[in-house]
Amino acid sequence: MTDVILVLNAGSSSLKFAVYPAQAPGCSAILRGKIAGIGTAPVFSARDASGEQLPPAEAMHVLPPKAGSDALIPALLHWLAARPERFALKAVGHRVVHGGLRQSGPARVSDALLAELAALNPLAPLHQPHNLAAIRVVAQAQPDLVQVACFDTSFHRSQARLAQLFALPRALSDAGILRYGFHGLSYDYIAQTLPAHLGAKAKGRVIVAHLGNGASVCAMRGGKSVATSMGFTALDGLMMGNRCGNIDPGVLLYLLEEKAMSLPDLNHLLYHDSGLLGVSGLSPDMALLEASPAPEAAEAIDLFCYRAASTIAELAVSIGGLDAIVFTAGIGENSARVRGQICAHLGWMGVDLDANANAKGATLISAPEAKVSVLVIPTDEESVIAAATLALMIG
Ligand code: ADP
Repeated sequence: MTDVILVLNAGSSSLKFAVYPAQAPGCSAILRGKIAGIGTAPVFSARDASGEQLPPAEAMHVLPPKAGSDALIPALLHWLAARPERFALKAVGHRVVHGGLRQSGPARVSDALLAELAALNPLAPLHQPHNLAAIRVVAQAQPDLVQVACFDTSFHRSQARLAQLFALPRALSDAGILRYGFHGLSYDYIAQTLPAHLGAKAKGRVIVAHLGNGASVCAMRGGKSVATSMGFTALDGLMMGNRCGNIDPGVLLYLLEEKAMSLPDLNHLLYHDSGLLGVSGLSPDMALLEASPAPEAAEAIDLFCYRAASTIAELAVSIGGLDAIVFTAGIGENSARVRGQICAHLGWMGVDLDANANAKGATLISAPEAKVSVLVIPTDEESVIAAATLALMIG
Protein backbone atom coordinates (compact mmCIF):
# COMPACT_ATOMS: atom_id res chain seq x y z
CA MET A 1 0.00 0.00 0.00
CA THR A 2 1.14 3.58 -0.73
CA ASP A 3 -0.13 6.23 1.68
CA VAL A 4 -1.25 9.21 -0.39
CA ILE A 5 -2.71 12.70 -0.21
CA LEU A 6 -5.29 13.78 -2.73
CA VAL A 7 -5.30 17.43 -3.80
CA LEU A 8 -8.57 18.80 -5.20
CA ASN A 9 -9.13 22.07 -7.02
CA ALA A 10 -12.89 22.16 -7.58
CA GLY A 11 -14.30 24.77 -9.95
CA SER A 12 -17.73 25.36 -11.44
CA SER A 13 -17.22 23.15 -14.48
CA SER A 14 -13.97 21.30 -13.80
CA LEU A 15 -12.29 19.37 -11.02
CA LYS A 16 -8.50 19.20 -11.09
CA PHE A 17 -6.82 16.61 -8.91
CA ALA A 18 -3.35 15.38 -8.04
CA VAL A 19 -2.07 12.51 -5.90
CA TYR A 20 1.06 12.88 -3.74
CA PRO A 21 2.89 10.42 -1.52
CA ALA A 22 2.03 11.07 2.14
CA GLN A 23 5.56 10.45 3.41
CA ALA A 24 7.81 13.42 2.77
CA PRO A 25 7.18 17.04 1.90
CA GLY A 26 8.45 18.27 -1.48
CA CYS A 27 7.74 15.03 -3.40
CA SER A 28 6.32 15.33 -6.90
CA ALA A 29 2.83 14.17 -7.85
CA ILE A 30 2.33 10.47 -8.56
CA LEU A 31 -0.50 11.36 -10.92
CA ARG A 32 -2.51 14.36 -11.99
CA GLY A 33 -5.84 14.64 -13.74
CA LYS A 34 -8.95 16.56 -14.48
CA ILE A 35 -12.65 16.04 -14.87
CA ALA A 36 -13.91 18.65 -17.31
CA GLY A 37 -17.51 19.33 -18.35
CA ILE A 38 -19.00 18.89 -14.87
CA GLY A 39 -22.79 19.28 -14.97
CA THR A 40 -22.92 18.90 -18.75
CA ALA A 41 -20.79 16.10 -20.23
CA PRO A 42 -18.01 15.04 -17.83
CA VAL A 43 -14.73 14.04 -19.44
CA PHE A 44 -12.07 12.34 -17.30
CA SER A 45 -8.36 12.48 -18.02
CA ALA A 46 -5.31 11.59 -15.94
CA ARG A 47 -1.56 11.31 -16.42
CA ASP A 48 1.06 9.51 -14.38
CA ALA A 49 4.29 11.10 -13.09
CA SER A 50 6.00 10.59 -16.46
CA GLY A 51 3.16 12.39 -18.25
CA GLU A 52 1.75 9.17 -19.73
CA GLN A 53 -2.03 9.30 -20.28
CA LEU A 54 -3.87 6.76 -18.10
CA PRO A 55 -6.78 4.74 -19.48
CA PRO A 56 -10.14 6.45 -18.87
CA ALA A 57 -11.73 5.34 -15.65
CA GLU A 58 -14.39 2.66 -15.76
CA ALA A 59 -16.28 4.48 -13.04
CA MET A 60 -16.33 7.62 -15.14
CA HIS A 61 -17.84 5.83 -18.14
CA VAL A 62 -21.01 4.86 -16.32
CA LEU A 63 -21.72 8.36 -15.01
CA PRO A 64 -24.84 10.04 -16.28
CA PRO A 65 -24.02 12.86 -18.71
CA LYS A 66 -25.15 15.62 -16.37
CA ALA A 67 -23.28 14.29 -13.31
CA GLY A 68 -22.22 16.97 -10.83
CA SER A 69 -19.38 16.92 -8.32
CA ASP A 70 -21.61 15.12 -5.78
CA ALA A 71 -21.43 12.06 -8.05
CA LEU A 72 -18.03 12.65 -9.61
CA ILE A 73 -15.96 13.03 -6.45
CA PRO A 74 -17.10 9.68 -4.96
CA ALA A 75 -16.40 8.13 -8.38
CA LEU A 76 -12.90 9.62 -8.32
CA LEU A 77 -12.28 8.25 -4.80
CA HIS A 78 -13.49 4.87 -6.00
CA TRP A 79 -11.20 5.01 -9.05
CA LEU A 80 -8.22 5.89 -6.87
CA ALA A 81 -8.94 3.05 -4.45
CA ALA A 82 -9.01 0.61 -7.35
CA ARG A 83 -5.68 1.74 -8.87
CA PRO A 84 -2.98 -0.91 -9.24
CA GLU A 85 -0.63 1.23 -7.09
CA ARG A 86 -2.87 0.28 -4.14
CA PHE A 87 -3.25 3.82 -2.80
CA ALA A 88 -4.28 4.26 0.83
CA LEU A 89 -5.86 7.72 0.99
CA LYS A 90 -4.77 9.51 4.17
CA ALA A 91 -5.96 13.08 3.64
CA VAL A 92 -7.47 15.47 1.10
CA GLY A 93 -6.16 19.00 0.57
CA HIS A 94 -8.43 21.53 -1.10
CA ARG A 95 -7.82 24.77 -2.89
CA VAL A 96 -10.26 27.24 -1.36
CA VAL A 97 -10.30 30.64 -2.94
CA HIS A 98 -11.32 32.74 0.07
CA GLY A 99 -10.18 32.50 3.66
CA GLY A 100 -11.31 35.98 4.66
CA LEU A 101 -9.28 37.97 7.17
CA ARG A 102 -9.00 35.20 9.75
CA GLN A 103 -7.29 32.47 7.73
CA SER A 104 -3.63 33.36 7.32
CA GLY A 105 -2.56 29.81 6.51
CA PRO A 106 -3.91 26.33 5.73
CA ALA A 107 -6.46 24.95 8.19
CA ARG A 108 -7.92 21.56 9.06
CA VAL A 109 -11.56 21.40 8.07
CA SER A 110 -14.16 21.40 10.84
CA ASP A 111 -17.86 22.22 10.89
CA ALA A 112 -17.05 25.62 12.39
CA LEU A 113 -14.50 26.38 9.67
CA LEU A 114 -16.96 25.33 6.95
CA ALA A 115 -19.59 27.68 8.35
CA GLU A 116 -17.05 30.52 8.49
CA LEU A 117 -16.00 29.88 4.89
CA ALA A 118 -19.57 29.57 3.62
CA ALA A 119 -20.24 33.07 4.92
CA LEU A 120 -17.60 34.25 2.41
CA ASN A 121 -19.49 32.80 -0.59
CA PRO A 122 -20.77 36.21 -1.74
CA LEU A 123 -17.18 37.47 -1.96
CA ALA A 124 -16.18 34.77 -4.45
CA PRO A 125 -19.42 33.47 -5.94
CA LEU A 126 -17.77 31.77 -8.93
CA HIS A 127 -15.36 29.67 -6.87
CA GLN A 128 -16.05 29.45 -3.13
CA PRO A 129 -19.34 27.49 -3.26
CA HIS A 130 -17.73 24.85 -5.50
CA ASN A 131 -14.63 24.61 -3.31
CA LEU A 132 -16.80 24.04 -0.22
CA ALA A 133 -19.15 21.63 -1.99
CA ALA A 134 -16.14 19.40 -2.74
CA ILE A 135 -15.19 19.36 0.95
CA ARG A 136 -18.73 18.38 1.94
CA VAL A 137 -18.92 15.61 -0.67
CA VAL A 138 -15.62 14.10 0.52
CA ALA A 139 -16.78 14.34 4.16
CA GLN A 140 -19.95 12.51 3.26
CA ALA A 141 -18.14 9.79 1.32
CA GLN A 142 -15.36 9.27 3.89
CA PRO A 143 -16.23 11.05 7.15
CA ASP A 144 -13.01 10.05 8.95
CA LEU A 145 -10.64 11.44 6.36
CA VAL A 146 -8.52 14.46 7.37
CA GLN A 147 -9.35 17.42 5.13
CA VAL A 148 -7.30 20.59 4.84
CA ALA A 149 -8.32 23.89 3.25
CA CYS A 150 -5.59 25.99 1.61
CA PHE A 151 -6.56 29.53 0.74
CA ASP A 152 -5.71 31.79 -2.19
CA THR A 153 -6.02 34.80 0.09
CA SER A 154 -3.75 33.65 2.95
CA PHE A 155 -0.43 34.61 1.35
CA HIS A 156 -1.56 38.24 1.25
CA ARG A 157 -2.40 38.51 4.94
CA SER A 158 1.18 39.75 5.50
CA GLN A 159 0.28 43.02 3.76
CA ALA A 160 0.26 46.32 5.63
CA ARG A 161 -3.10 47.96 6.22
CA LEU A 162 -2.43 50.63 3.59
CA ALA A 163 -2.09 48.00 0.88
CA GLN A 164 -5.44 46.50 1.89
CA LEU A 165 -7.53 49.67 2.20
CA PHE A 166 -9.89 51.15 -0.35
CA ALA A 167 -10.44 54.90 -0.05
CA LEU A 168 -13.96 54.26 1.22
CA PRO A 169 -15.66 55.33 4.45
CA ARG A 170 -14.12 53.63 7.47
CA ALA A 171 -17.34 51.79 8.32
CA LEU A 172 -17.11 49.87 5.04
CA SER A 173 -13.46 48.90 5.63
CA ASP A 174 -14.39 47.83 9.16
CA ALA A 175 -17.14 45.67 7.62
CA GLY A 176 -14.50 43.76 5.61
CA ILE A 177 -14.61 45.63 2.29
CA LEU A 178 -10.86 45.40 1.79
CA ARG A 179 -8.34 44.26 -0.78
CA TYR A 180 -7.86 40.55 -0.04
CA GLY A 181 -5.87 39.46 -3.10
CA PHE A 182 -5.85 36.01 -4.74
CA HIS A 183 -3.54 33.51 -6.50
CA GLY A 184 -1.75 33.20 -3.15
CA LEU A 185 -0.95 29.48 -3.51
CA SER A 186 0.85 30.20 -6.76
CA TYR A 187 2.76 33.12 -5.21
CA ASP A 188 3.64 30.96 -2.21
CA TYR A 189 5.09 28.32 -4.55
CA ILE A 190 7.17 30.92 -6.41
CA ALA A 191 8.38 32.47 -3.13
CA GLN A 192 9.52 29.04 -1.93
CA THR A 193 11.22 28.21 -5.22
CA LEU A 194 12.92 31.53 -5.88
CA PRO A 195 15.99 31.17 -3.61
CA ALA A 196 17.11 28.17 -5.69
CA HIS A 197 17.16 30.45 -8.75
CA LEU A 198 18.17 33.83 -7.37
CA GLY A 199 20.04 33.19 -4.11
CA ALA A 200 19.95 36.19 -1.75
CA LYS A 201 18.19 38.33 -4.39
CA ALA A 202 15.09 36.18 -3.88
CA LYS A 203 14.52 37.99 -0.59
CA GLY A 204 14.74 41.37 -2.32
CA ARG A 205 12.15 43.36 -4.28
CA VAL A 206 10.39 40.85 -6.51
CA ILE A 207 7.24 41.15 -8.61
CA VAL A 208 5.57 37.93 -9.70
CA ALA A 209 3.21 38.05 -12.68
CA HIS A 210 0.74 35.16 -12.55
CA LEU A 211 -0.69 35.37 -16.08
CA GLY A 212 -3.28 32.69 -16.79
CA ASN A 213 -6.97 32.95 -17.65
CA GLY A 214 -7.16 34.79 -14.37
CA ALA A 215 -4.22 37.14 -13.98
CA SER A 216 -2.64 39.17 -11.22
CA VAL A 217 0.70 40.46 -10.05
CA CYS A 218 2.15 40.37 -6.55
CA ALA A 219 4.94 42.54 -5.13
CA MET A 220 7.03 40.65 -2.57
CA ARG A 221 9.80 41.58 -0.21
CA GLY A 222 11.54 39.00 1.96
CA GLY A 223 9.42 36.38 0.18
CA LYS A 224 6.21 37.90 1.60
CA SER A 225 3.32 39.62 -0.14
CA VAL A 226 3.48 43.42 0.17
CA ALA A 227 0.84 44.37 -2.42
CA THR A 228 -1.18 42.69 -5.14
CA SER A 229 -3.38 43.72 -8.04
CA MET A 230 -6.51 41.72 -7.25
CA GLY A 231 -8.67 43.27 -4.57
CA PHE A 232 -11.98 42.56 -2.89
CA THR A 233 -12.81 40.15 -5.70
CA ALA A 234 -10.85 38.48 -8.49
CA LEU A 235 -12.18 41.12 -10.91
CA ASP A 236 -9.69 43.82 -10.01
CA GLY A 237 -6.28 44.59 -11.46
CA LEU A 238 -5.00 43.20 -14.76
CA MET A 239 -6.97 42.62 -17.91
CA MET A 240 -7.74 38.87 -18.04
CA GLY A 241 -9.15 36.29 -20.44
CA ASN A 242 -12.78 37.24 -19.76
CA ARG A 243 -12.55 39.88 -17.03
CA CYS A 244 -11.91 43.57 -17.57
CA GLY A 245 -9.76 44.11 -14.48
CA ASN A 246 -9.33 47.60 -13.09
CA ILE A 247 -12.10 49.89 -14.37
CA ASP A 248 -13.40 53.36 -13.61
CA PRO A 249 -16.35 52.64 -11.29
CA GLY A 250 -18.13 55.50 -13.03
CA VAL A 251 -18.54 53.24 -16.06
CA LEU A 252 -20.54 50.79 -13.94
CA LEU A 253 -22.78 53.56 -12.61
CA TYR A 254 -23.31 54.83 -16.14
CA LEU A 255 -24.28 51.37 -17.43
CA LEU A 256 -26.68 50.85 -14.53
CA GLU A 257 -28.27 54.29 -14.54
CA GLU A 258 -28.13 55.53 -18.11
CA LYS A 259 -28.20 52.25 -20.02
CA ALA A 260 -30.56 50.51 -17.59
CA MET A 261 -28.34 47.44 -17.60
CA SER A 262 -29.59 44.77 -15.21
CA LEU A 263 -27.35 43.51 -12.40
CA PRO A 264 -27.09 40.00 -13.87
CA ASP A 265 -26.12 41.49 -17.25
CA LEU A 266 -23.50 43.72 -15.63
CA ASN A 267 -22.17 40.75 -13.71
CA HIS A 268 -21.91 38.77 -16.93
CA LEU A 269 -20.23 41.65 -18.74
CA LEU A 270 -17.55 42.00 -16.07
CA TYR A 271 -16.84 38.30 -15.41
CA HIS A 272 -17.41 36.75 -18.84
CA ASP A 273 -17.63 39.14 -21.79
CA SER A 274 -14.71 41.50 -21.14
CA GLY A 275 -10.92 41.16 -21.12
CA LEU A 276 -9.17 39.53 -24.07
CA LEU A 277 -12.50 38.19 -25.33
CA GLY A 278 -14.25 41.54 -25.15
CA VAL A 279 -11.48 43.59 -26.75
CA SER A 280 -10.64 41.07 -29.48
CA GLY A 281 -14.24 40.02 -30.10
CA LEU A 282 -12.70 36.64 -30.86
CA SER A 283 -11.47 34.62 -27.89
CA PRO A 284 -10.29 34.79 -24.28
CA ASP A 285 -7.44 32.42 -25.16
CA MET A 286 -4.04 34.08 -25.56
CA ALA A 287 -2.57 31.30 -27.73
CA LEU A 288 -5.47 31.62 -30.19
CA LEU A 289 -5.17 35.40 -30.28
CA GLU A 290 -1.44 35.18 -30.96
CA ALA A 291 -2.17 32.93 -33.92
CA SER A 292 -4.84 35.27 -35.31
CA PRO A 293 -4.04 37.79 -38.07
CA ALA A 294 -6.95 40.03 -36.95
CA PRO A 295 -5.91 43.55 -35.85
CA GLU A 296 -8.44 43.26 -32.99
CA ALA A 297 -6.48 40.27 -31.63
CA ALA A 298 -3.23 42.25 -31.75
CA GLU A 299 -4.91 45.19 -30.00
CA ALA A 300 -6.21 42.93 -27.23
CA ILE A 301 -2.70 41.52 -26.68
CA ASP A 302 -1.18 45.01 -26.75
CA LEU A 303 -3.67 46.22 -24.14
CA PHE A 304 -3.06 43.15 -21.95
CA CYS A 305 0.70 43.82 -21.99
CA TYR A 306 0.45 47.58 -21.53
CA ARG A 307 -1.81 47.17 -18.52
CA ALA A 308 0.30 44.40 -16.99
CA ALA A 309 3.45 46.55 -17.34
CA SER A 310 1.65 49.59 -15.87
CA THR A 311 0.55 47.55 -12.87
CA ILE A 312 4.04 46.14 -12.34
CA ALA A 313 5.41 49.69 -12.32
CA GLU A 314 2.66 50.76 -9.89
CA LEU A 315 3.34 47.89 -7.49
CA ALA A 316 7.08 48.64 -7.52
CA VAL A 317 6.15 51.63 -5.34
CA SER A 318 5.08 49.28 -2.55
CA ILE A 319 8.50 47.61 -2.43
CA GLY A 320 10.62 50.66 -3.26
CA GLY A 321 11.98 49.48 -6.61
CA LEU A 322 12.57 46.25 -8.46
CA ASP A 323 15.23 43.52 -8.35
CA ALA A 324 13.41 40.73 -10.21
CA ILE A 325 10.29 39.89 -12.20
CA VAL A 326 8.97 36.32 -12.38
CA PHE A 327 6.52 35.21 -15.06
CA THR A 328 4.30 32.23 -14.31
CA ALA A 329 0.99 30.43 -15.23
CA GLY A 330 -0.24 29.56 -18.75
CA ILE A 331 0.55 32.85 -20.49
CA GLY A 332 3.54 33.81 -18.33
CA GLU A 333 5.18 30.41 -18.82
CA ASN A 334 4.46 30.02 -22.53
CA SER A 335 4.15 33.33 -24.32
CA ALA A 336 7.50 34.84 -25.31
CA ARG A 337 5.56 37.58 -27.12
CA VAL A 338 3.68 38.69 -23.99
CA ARG A 339 6.81 38.55 -21.81
CA GLY A 340 8.71 40.53 -24.45
CA GLN A 341 6.04 43.21 -24.78
CA ILE A 342 5.60 43.65 -21.04
CA CYS A 343 9.34 43.94 -20.48
CA ALA A 344 9.74 46.39 -23.38
CA HIS A 345 7.44 48.79 -21.49
CA LEU A 346 9.67 48.48 -18.41
CA GLY A 347 13.07 49.25 -19.95
CA TRP A 348 13.25 52.55 -18.01
CA MET A 349 13.17 50.52 -14.77
CA GLY A 350 16.25 48.52 -15.76
CA VAL A 351 14.41 45.60 -17.35
CA ASP A 352 16.27 44.22 -20.35
CA LEU A 353 15.50 40.83 -21.89
CA ASP A 354 17.83 38.39 -23.59
CA ALA A 355 15.65 37.91 -26.70
CA ASN A 356 17.10 34.46 -27.40
CA ALA A 357 16.58 33.17 -23.88
CA ASN A 358 13.04 34.58 -23.91
CA ALA A 359 12.22 32.92 -27.23
CA LYS A 360 13.53 29.58 -25.91
CA GLY A 361 11.57 29.91 -22.66
CA ALA A 362 14.73 29.61 -20.53
CA THR A 363 14.40 30.06 -16.78
CA LEU A 364 16.55 33.22 -16.70
CA ILE A 365 15.57 35.47 -19.60
CA SER A 366 17.13 38.82 -18.65
CA ALA A 367 20.27 40.09 -20.39
CA PRO A 368 23.48 39.29 -18.44
CA GLU A 369 24.12 42.90 -17.37
CA ALA A 370 20.48 43.81 -16.71
CA LYS A 371 19.69 45.53 -13.42
CA VAL A 372 16.48 43.54 -13.02
CA SER A 373 16.56 39.72 -13.25
CA VAL A 374 13.65 38.27 -15.22
CA LEU A 375 12.67 34.62 -14.77
CA VAL A 376 10.11 32.14 -16.05
CA ILE A 377 9.09 29.63 -13.38
CA PRO A 378 6.23 27.15 -13.86
CA THR A 379 3.85 27.38 -10.93
CA ASP A 380 2.66 24.36 -8.93
CA GLU A 381 -0.17 25.22 -6.59
CA GLU A 382 -0.97 21.55 -5.99
CA SER A 383 2.43 20.86 -4.43
CA VAL A 384 1.88 23.72 -1.96
CA ILE A 385 -1.49 22.22 -0.99
CA ALA A 386 0.00 18.72 -0.68
CA ALA A 387 2.81 19.92 1.59
CA ALA A 388 0.41 21.90 3.79
CA THR A 389 -1.99 18.96 4.02
CA LEU A 390 0.81 16.60 4.99
CA ALA A 391 2.03 19.03 7.67
CA LEU A 392 -1.44 19.43 9.21
CA MET A 393 -2.20 15.73 8.92
CA ILE A 394 0.88 14.88 10.96
CA GLY A 395 0.67 17.86 13.31
P1 ADP B 1 -6.06 29.10 -15.54
O1 ADP B 1 -6.12 30.48 -14.96
O2 ADP B 1 -7.38 28.63 -16.09
O3 ADP B 1 -5.33 28.07 -14.68
P2 ADP B 1 -3.76 28.80 -17.28
O4 ADP B 1 -2.73 29.18 -16.28
O5 ADP B 1 -3.82 27.39 -17.74
O6 ADP B 1 -5.20 29.30 -16.86
O7 ADP B 1 -3.52 29.76 -18.56
C1 ADP B 1 -4.35 29.68 -19.68
C2 ADP B 1 -3.88 30.74 -20.68
O8 ADP B 1 -2.53 30.42 -21.08
C3 ADP B 1 -4.72 30.78 -21.96
O9 ADP B 1 -4.96 32.11 -22.34
C4 ADP B 1 -3.81 30.09 -22.94
O10 ADP B 1 -4.04 30.49 -24.27
C5 ADP B 1 -2.45 30.58 -22.48
N1 ADP B 1 -1.39 29.79 -23.08
C6 ADP B 1 -1.10 28.49 -22.88
N2 ADP B 1 -0.10 28.10 -23.72
C7 ADP B 1 0.24 29.19 -24.46
C8 ADP B 1 1.19 29.45 -25.50
N3 ADP B 1 2.01 28.50 -25.94
N4 ADP B 1 1.26 30.69 -26.00
C9 ADP B 1 0.45 31.66 -25.57
N5 ADP B 1 -0.49 31.49 -24.61
C10 ADP B 1 -0.58 30.28 -24.06
